[in-house]
Amino acid sequence: MNTYNLDLENKHVLIIDDDPTNIQVAAAHLKALTVQISYALSAAEGFERIERKSPHLILLDIMMPEVDGITFCRQLKEKREYRDIPVVFLTARVDKATIVQAFEAGGVDYLTKPFHGPELNQRVLNQLRLIDLVQRFEMANAELNLQILKAMEAQDTLEQYQADLLAVNSQLKDLASKDSLTGLLNRRRGWELLEYEAARSDRSKQKTGLILIDIDHFKQVNDIFGHPEGDRILVEVSTLIQEGIRAQDFCIRWGGEEFLIILPETDLEGSMILAEKIAGQSRNRDWKLPDRGITFSGGCVIREPFGNLDEAVSLADELLYHAKRGGRNQILVSSKKEEVL
Ligand SMILES: [Mg+2]
Repeated sequence: MNTYNLDLENKHVLIIDDDPTNIQVAAAHLKALTVQISYALSAAEGFERIERKSPHLILLDIMMPEVDGITFCRQLKEKREYRDIPVVFLTARVDKATIVQAFEAGGVDYLTKPFHGPELNQRVLNQLRLIDLVQRFEMANAELNLQILKAMEAQDTLEQYQADLLAVNSQLKDLASKDSLTGLLNRRRGWELLEYEAARSDRSKQKTGLILIDIDHFKQVNDIFGHPEGDRILVEVSTLIQEGIRAQDFCIRWGGEEFLIILPETDLEGSMILAEKIAGQSRNRDWKLPDRGITFSGGCVIREPFGNLDEAVSLADELLYHAKRGGRNQILVSSKKEEVL
């Protein structure tokens, strides 16, 4: 009989009838279901019981003094907190109009007295199964909503994680391509840029200027004033170069105190002018070092369209070497090793 695992012992049936004998008869049958039973002899008493016992089902008489069963049922269904309790009418009234009224008032079932006990029990059981199913459905629905909510939160977390990952990737990319002290492109990224500019110059048939600059006596700056001062000089030199070059030019931190400037679409004369400008600014600047300024040695070359890039860079390096050997504070130009500054 109890095929749905209804836990009948915890189900509560309230019988409302003005005749105690009727209550006794119904209760005697219901005992077979093992449900809990309480009773009320009037509508007013019925509301009291409902409030105190929260019944799962109500068996309701129709003909009662003061408030009749149909009116009581209507009142019950108007109350939000009680309207879901199923009401089964149990009455001596057999006329069709009353039966219709009983259903219209909100009853779910209707039995006439005298009733057959097992039939009463089956009808009660049906209603208890129904509300049990509804409750299970509502619980499953609530659980489902909770899972959906959790999934949405997880989605939010995932999206945040992805955004964080993108930010970290972008930082890593910066770290991989930029020198952390000066913020200039590092040598590895600088080579990629050089190759890119070379390919561009091959297409446009324009020359590319390359200036390799090295800070003179930089080791002394570190040795005498300490590495923090050395770092400050490196940052200031990078700033000075960046302020000196044009928007289309690039400055790369080529090595410790070496900087490579790429000048796209620039001939030797234009490159010399720029090298001269930067070297001049360095000489005129107050470097805030007690007994000295900062000067540069360097090499300035042109990479012709379809020219060998490695050779152009090597030549700049060679010129830089000669500038150092020749007394520093000078930038030598092209293969002629002509001194310009
Ligand atoms: Mg009665």
